[in-house]
Amino acid sequence: MTAAPIRFVDLQAQYRCLKAKIDAAILDVLDRGDFILGSAVTAFETSFAAYCEVEHCVGVANGLDALTLALQGLGVGAGDEVIIPSNTFIATALSVLRTGATPVLVEYDPATYNIDPARIERAITGKTKAIVPVHLYGQPADMDAIGSIALAHGLLVVEDAAQAHGARYHQRRCGSLGHAAAFSFYPGKNLGAYGDGGGVVTNDPKLAKWLRQARNYGSSIKHRHDIPGTNSRLDSVQAAVLNVKLPYLDQWNELRRAVATAYHELLWDLPIALPAQATDVEPVFHLYVVQTTARDALHAALNDVEIQSGVHYPIPIHRQPACRDRCVIPEPLEQTDTAAERLLSLPMHPELSLGDIERVAEVLRQQLTNTGAATRTNDTEEIAVRLNPRAVVA
Ligand SMILES: *Cc1c(COP(=O)(O)O)cnc(C)c1O
Repeated sequence: MTAAPIRFVDLQAQYRCLKAKIDAAILDVLDRGDFILGSAVTAFETSFAAYCEVEHCVGVANGLDALTLALQGLGVGAGDEVIIPSNTFIATALSVLRTGATPVLVEYDPATYNIDPARIERAITGKTKAIVPVHLYGQPADMDAIGSIALAHGLLVVEDAAQAHGARYHQRRCGSLGHAAAFSFYPGKNLGAYGDGGGVVTNDPKLAKWLRQARNYGSSIKHRHDIPGTNSRLDSVQAAVLNVKLPYLDQWNELRRAVATAYHELLWDLPIALPAQATDVEPVFHLYVVQTTARDALHAALNDVEIQSGVHYPIPIHRQPACRDRCVIPEPLEQTDTAAERLLSLPMHPELSLGDIERVAEVLRQQLTNTGAATRTNDTEEIAVRLNPRAVVA
C-alpha cells in the first residue's frame, strides 16, 4: 500500500476541525439576511484591526483591491512611481498599474528574499511616491531601513501583508508598520475565507473614511456619492468565516513555525538553501521556500509519490507580457531570473504531521543522493550567522 497523498495546503482538514462553528456562523448570516456590509463585516473589521494593533480595518473584496484602494486613497496616481520587489505575486505590480502609476522593480536581499533597502535607495527618482514592501513567504521585510528611506525622501509606505497575517517585526505586527497595509483572505492564505476577501488596515482616520466610501460606490449615505468609487465590499458570509477563524490564527502560525523547524532539522545537511530568519522577527511561513539547482528533479520526484509542491514564482513580473513593458527596471534582475528556475515551495500548512514532513524530507534526500546533481546555491550557514550572530547552525 502506498502512503496517502500530501497536499500543498489542506483546506478540508481545517474545515473538518471547525465545521460546527463555521456552519453555524454562515447560517446566522442567512437567517439575518444582511448579506452586504452586515454585522459580520463590522465585527470582523473591529477584531482584525485589534489583532493587527491598529485603529482601522476596512474590509474589501480581495487583496488586489486592498492594495489598489490603499494606494489610491493615499494619493498615488498617474505620473507617480512606486517601488516594489521584483520577486512577488503579480498583484503587487497590477495594483500599482491600476492606480495609473508605474511599478519600479527592485531586487531582493538573498538572505531573506525580501526587497533590498540598499537597492531601493538607488531606484528613487523625482517621481517616486511610495514603497510597497512585501512580507514575502510570511517573513517581515526590513521595515526599519525602509521606514528611514521613506522618511528621508518623503515617501509613503504601504505594506503588502497578503502573506503575513500575524507576523511580527521587532515585536510589532505586520500591518502596523507603514501608512497602510493590505491583506488578502484568499482561501489558501494564513487567514483565509471560503472565497475572495481582503482588507486594508491603517491608523489614518482620513484614509479609513475614504476607503469606506470608495469600496461602496463612493457613498457613505444612501444615494449620495461623494467620490467616484467602486464596488469592492467584503462579503458578509466571508466575514462570518473569518470571525470563526481569527481566534485560531496565532495557534496555526505557531504550528507553521514548528513545521519549518522540523524541515530545517531534517534538511540542513543537504545541498539546498533553506529559509533563513532575520533578527528579532516572528515569521509566519505562508510558504516554506528552498532554493536548489535540482529544482525540477525534486519537483518531479515529489510529484511521483503524490506530494504536492509549488514554485513561487516561475515567471517573474518583468517577464510577464502584462507587465514587462509597463515597469521601470533600474538595475538588472539577475537574482530574480535565477530564482525563478531554482525556488521550490514545500508543503506548508498547520495540519501537516511529523510523519508527512519526514516523508517529504526523505524524498528530497533520496533524490539528491541518487543524482548528486545539486550544488549549494547560497550558503545557508553564512547567511544565518550574518542575520543573527547567535544563530546555531547545526
Ligand atoms: C495573494 C496575494 C495578493 C493578492 O490577493 P488576492 O486576494 O488574491 O487578490 C497580493 N500580494 C501578495 C504578495 C499575495 O500573495
